[in-house]
Amino acid sequence: MPVCPICNSKSSFLFTSKINRKIYNCRLRECNHFFTPIIKENQGICELPENIQEESDKDLFIYKERNQRMLNLFLRKTHGISAPYNWLDYGSGSAHVSRLFKEILKENCNIYCCELNQIYEEFYRFNNLIHLNSLEKVEKKFDLIYLVEVIEHLDDPIKTLKELSKSLKKKGKIFISTPMGMKKEFLTKAYEADSHLHFFSKKSLSYALKKAGFLNNEFGFFEELYPLPEKKDFFYKFKLFMKKKNLFSGHLSTFSSF
Ligand SMILES: [Zn+2]
Repeated sequence: MPVCPICNSKSSFLFTSKINRKIYNCRLRECNHFFTPIIKENQGICELPENIQEESDKDLFIYKERNQRMLNLFLRKTHGISAPYNWLDYGSGSAHVSRLFKEILKENCNIYCCELNQIYEEFYRFNNLIHLNSLEKVEKKFDLIYLVEVIEHLDDPIKTLKELSKSLKKKGKIFISTPMGMKKEFLTKAYEADSHLHFFSKKSLSYALKKAGFLNNEFGFFEELYPLPEKKDFFYKFKLFMKKKNLFSGHLSTFSSF
């Protein structure tokens, strides 16, 4: 049995997913991580889009309203920091999140987008975003670092979180959102993507963050990300309960700091 990539404890085989990946569950109660062993190189990396602009526009169309709400959440959570803010979008991909942020915040925010592949550079520049292909030579410290649906793709999440901690200001925050791992495949969409390696539980994400030096972790139900149902809705109370318990939304979100 492979060992848990987060805490190195023994794991148990859980099931073979619909896309034919073996899913394991960490046996340590305080971790309870779900993962699939890495069987090929670059398994966590998403396929590059043929047309970056098209891909980004498509994503922006789908997520525009959600991204707008996410921006409001970020501003609320970083309240007290004066502009211009320095933000880092780690694993920015088609950058539909940061494009909208920059469009709204304009000169009030410098947004750095970290993405390994150089092909994004021109597209980012065109959208007034600053491309970084690694954090190694970056001396800049950020007020906010966000990883939106990124951590589940990383080979070694703790190593990356440690690197990121060096780029965060003392009073800065790191935001992470990721599909939640569950014992039953049908309860979450986490297992549907080829490039997902990790399916965090609240405990395993907390474990990883603490190991990387983030001792304050505010896991939460953030209304901006998952809007509440309308009050006049017949199933209002039921839907509210499900959302607050994070059942079937299948997502974990946290703001973490030192
Ligand atoms: Zn574990």
